[in-house]
This record gives sequence, C-alpha cells and structure tokens, in this order.
Amino acid sequence: MNLMCNRCGRQEAAASTLAWRCPCGGPWHLQLQVPPPDSIPGQRGLWRWRRSLPGVPEAAIVSLGEGDTPLVPTRLDGRQFLMKCDFCNPTGSWKDRGWTLAVSHLKAMGISHLYEDSSGNAGASLAAYGGRAGMKVSVFVPADIPSPKRRQIAAYGGEVIPISGGRDAVAAACVEAARDGFYAGHAWNPWFRWGPCTLAWEIVEDLDGRIPDAVVMPVGQGGILLGLFHGFNALHGAGRISGLPRLVAAQAAACAPVVRGWLTQADQVPPVEVGPTLADAIRTPRPVRYGEILEALRSTNGTALAISEEEIATAHAMLARSGLLVEPTSAVAAAAALRYGREAQHGDETVVVILTGLGLKALADPPTA
Ligand SMILES: [Zn+2]
Repeated sequence: MNLMCNRCGRQEAAASTLAWRCPCGGPWHLQLQVPPPDSIPGQRGLWRWRRSLPGVPEAAIVSLGEGDTPLVPTRLDGRQFLMKCDFCNPTGSWKDRGWTLAVSHLKAMGISHLYEDSSGNAGASLAAYGGRAGMKVSVFVPADIPSPKRRQIAAYGGEVIPISGGRDAVAAACVEAARDGFYAGHAWNPWFRWGPCTLAWEIVEDLDGRIPDAVVMPVGQGGILLGLFHGFNALHGAGRISGLPRLVAAQAAACAPVVRGWLTQADQVPPVEVGPTLADAIRTPRPVRYGEILEALRSTNGTALAISEEEIATAHAMLARSGLLVEPTSAVAAAAALRYGREAQHGDETVVVILTGLGLKALADPPTA
C-alpha cells in the first residue's frame, strides 16, 4: 500500500510515512488494490465492509459502531426524498466514518498526539475516536463556532483551541502547533477519505442494488462527495451497478467556491469572500481537493447549487417539522434537493439527500444569568 501524490507523481510507503502531505504541497492518495465492495455477512456497521477498505490490523480498530445509518423516505414541499440520516452516527456527524478508519491506522502507527483544525464536527469526532484510542487530541476551531460543538469536543477529553480570523487562519495555527505531534487534518488524510465510500455502498444496498438518480450533499472540503464518487465508482467498476448517480454539490451562497468554480469551469479554486451563514460547518473558502471535486461533478453529469440563507432556514424548519432535527449545514442539502426537484426534467427522479450533522449541535445557547 503506497501513498501517491497526483500533483508530482511522488510515491511513499504508506506503512512508514508520517508526512501529512507530499513535499510538493499536494494531498496524498492511497494506492491500493481491494476487492469489490462486499460486506461480511452477519456483521453490522462500517467495518463489515473492511475487506474493501484500506487494511488495518484487527487489534488497532477503533470503532463506536458507526455506519448503517437509516434511509428515511420523507415528503418535503409535496415531493418525496430519501433522507440518508448520517447524523445518526455516534458523535452526531458523518465524520465518524472517516475517523474510525484514520484513527485506527494512526493507532497502528503508534501516534500519541493528534492535531486537527475543524469547524466543530470533525474535531468532536476525532476527540471521541482519538480519546478512545488513548491519544491526546488538540482541536483548533474558529472562535465563533456554536458552543455545543466546543463543549462536545471538551467532553470527549479533547483540547479546544479557539482561533480568530477565519478558517484559513485556524488551519495555519494548527499546522504550526502540530510540529511536536501529528497533523491529522481531515481534508488531507488519505485514510479518512475512504470512510464515506461506505455511504454509497449502504445506499445501493438499501435500494436493492439500484442506484438513485441523484445524490445531494453539503460540500465544504468535499469529503462526502468524493467518498460517494469513489464508492459508486468501485461498484460500477465491479459491474454491480449500471452507471453513476448524478452528484449535486450544495453550498451556502455565503461561501460557494465550488459553485463559482463549477459555473466558470475554473482550473484553480476561485477566490471568494466569506459572508455570515447559518451553515457554519461548510465555511471552506479553499477546498484542498477542489480539482477532484469538479472532476466528480463532471464525471457524474452533476451540478453545484448555491443556497441562500432564507432557503437554508426554510428547509431546516421543514426537516424539523418532519421529525428530522439536523444542523443548518445539512439543511443546505435539503434546500438544494428541493430546488433540483422543482426542475421538470428531474420530476420523477429518486433523489437521496445526505443529512450530515445532528441538530442538537446547533441549538441556541441558553440565556446566561
Ligand atoms: Zn507531490
């Protein structure tokens, strides 16, 4: 199993490399041959797919029972959608799919102190999995994240370091501090990105081997989108499905570099001003894997939609009235699905919406005395 950089072609042995990115600055990819997606009969959760995931020694696996989240048919505004309730993961977000794999690998590598920059969900998930593995976890967060997310990280035993000055400043401070430990940035970690492949495999299993026409998801760093693309491709390459579903990237209009880049087909991520938004978990002005995101949209005949704050709030309320209390970032995907579904040519399509984060993480703070 090798690490490979698509930018310069460099390769390193995955079992012994501690560098979190290629010396040229590009992100690593895992080069490995795995069997087509088949789960181990009689088992539950993400690790039942382990034969088709990057190998980790059995004794190093750190699991909280993540995966196998429900696909719940839900009517919104008179139209039926299939809601993939990934907020039902152990820490209340899809990030558990990535960290169970990556932390297991890092445990096998003997790493004892992890550093991560996060808008909250990835940090909470890493604090849970890293803490369970006996590692110290330091999470750098924007100073203005919802306080339940900060308290969640601390409750798992994670160290919370708030940083002012935007998402890039948070990442830079974290990388600088990580010199005496391991920088486990989830956008960069090549193990992390394999976890959300299992979303695609679970969806096809729940649809009795069929693919949906479209899958709509919120996009910040694009971890879900790239995982779905990879996961559906693995099924397609094995002849299990007839094609790829259209992938629809949903971003808040207040921070929509992927939408802007998609509309202009820009080679490099276009500069964006980040405005205030309810969707605090996807305020990502410069996605690390921007080129791969656009390639996934092109390859699946997908699209990217920018959603207004009013649309986010409306979709959030509609979901909650349907019994699905998600964080506002997840409502961005539901709002995009509503807009997508209103177009006549998509009227009869089967549309899956990935609901990524639990609403309890974003409920307003109680008033202080
Ligand atoms: Zn490189």
